Amino acid sequence: MKKLIQAIRPKQVSPKLVLSPTIIPRAEHNVSRRDIDSHALKVLYRLHEAGFHAYLVGGCVRDLLLGQRPKDFDIATNAHPEEVRRLFKNCRLIGKRFRLAHILFGNHIIEVATFRTHHQNALEQHAKMRDGMIVRDNVYGLIEDDVLRRDYGINALYYNIADFSIVDFVGGMNDIKQKVLRMIGNPLERFTEDPVRLLRAIRFLAKLDITIDPDTEKHLIASARLLEQVSNARLFQEILKMFESGTLLKTLKLLQQYNLLSSVFLHSPQHLSLVYIAAQNSDDRVRIQKTVSPAFLLAAFLWPLLATKTAELEGVLPRSLAFDTAANDILKEQTQKLALSRLIQTAIREIASLQFRFHLRRGNAPLKLLDHPRFRAAYDLLLLRAESGEPIAELAGWWKQFHDATTEEQLQLLKDVKPSGPFKKRSKFRKRTQNR
Ligand code: ATP
Ligand code: MG
Repeated sequence: MKKLIQAIRPKQVSPKLVLSPTIIPRAEHNVSRRDIDSHALKVLYRLHEAGFHAYLVGGCVRDLLLGQRPKDFDIATNAHPEEVRRLFKNCRLIGKRFRLAHILFGNHIIEVATFRTHHQNALEQHAKMRDGMIVRDNVYGLIEDDVLRRDYGINALYYNIADFSIVDFVGGMNDIKQKVLRMIGNPLERFTEDPVRLLRAIRFLAKLDITIDPDTEKHLIASARLLEQVSNARLFQEILKMFESGTLLKTLKLLQQYNLLSSVFLHSPQHLSLVYIAAQNSDDRVRIQKTVSPAFLLAAFLWPLLATKTAELEGVLPRSLAFDTAANDILKEQTQKLALSRLIQTAIREIASLQFRFHLRRGNAPLKLLDHPRFRAAYDLLLLRAESGEPIAELAGWWKQFHDATTEEQLQLLKDVKPSGPFKKRSKFRKRTQNR
């Protein structure tokens, strides 16, 4: 009976909510124009003076309210892209289906998006069926539509340049006050619609140091498998944001806690300590405004697997061939999850393969290694491996000494290398690979 009713009842389309916003006047919030990027302010004022509505929206409003420094300042407006272009000579329109305006100030870009409807694809589909072509007007909407396509309440606040108030349609201000991440609408539907929101949730939890609403959390846990449907290109984009966040360690621990880690990374569950140490190392670099290298991090993540697999194959293959085979397999599998460019794959391969060369300490080998373009990354990984508990303390110690030494001291260190011991085996390996 229930089924019958379900069958005859027309499928419910998302009801058009009549939203009335809460307006938080300037006196009641802490977003100050002093903290807003001057270029973004210029764009907002220009749009406003031309008679359009103009708001800061998304991550920048959220970050300012939480006392963090925003990465970028995004603007939403009711002006159509062509109208935006007419107002700014330094404007470039990008995107096919949904056009965005980029206003360029040197190499600094302010992104201006026209209000968009929530079910963009559905509407376009409908438009297509009606007259065989995309009716572009259907893509754009009102601010009331725009707010509903956003993911979390804290990401859906609009700062109005007309009176410096904050416009809140979905209770985002309460979420900010309670420091809680809450999905707008039905979390299951919204995660299904775009599973990248799972990873975004984790990123925000780590970066903003906030808690997650229980209902959102319940569906986050239940929806992990949806990530399989996301393209490896989009996943990689999202992972890059995590790498650069400065809170990578916390992010990875949360990914692990919510069983999402293996959806994005190939890794050895027994060797997470190296992953965590590499993440901490990279967070420290971000803190002092150094760049982080995705290839270095991925090399650290993949190293335990690569080492194990190489050792397994070494039973039947010379080591260099064993390593090549292991690296091919592992990089192929990792690339199915994250779209790694050839360049990144090559860098990972080199950083990993140099780990074996650290064992060759006789003759000129160490001096040659110092000159290798990937030496620095490989050396950093060697030290992290030792720190993570791999039994290579002596080797890492020697290299640290060698690396920090003057040329004279280096020559002395090379003289002191004992010709016996484990290096005999390595020289055999060298001969074999050279003869190949
Ligand atoms: P940050 O820039 O600090 O990483 P952000 O929230 O600004 O975080 P962006 O990717 O810059 O993230 O997106 C800007 C805004 O667009 C978000 O705040 C959100 O409102 C909306 N948004 C982005 N991606 C999605 C998504 N996958 N689903 C729904 N809304 C999204
Ligand atoms: Mg942003």
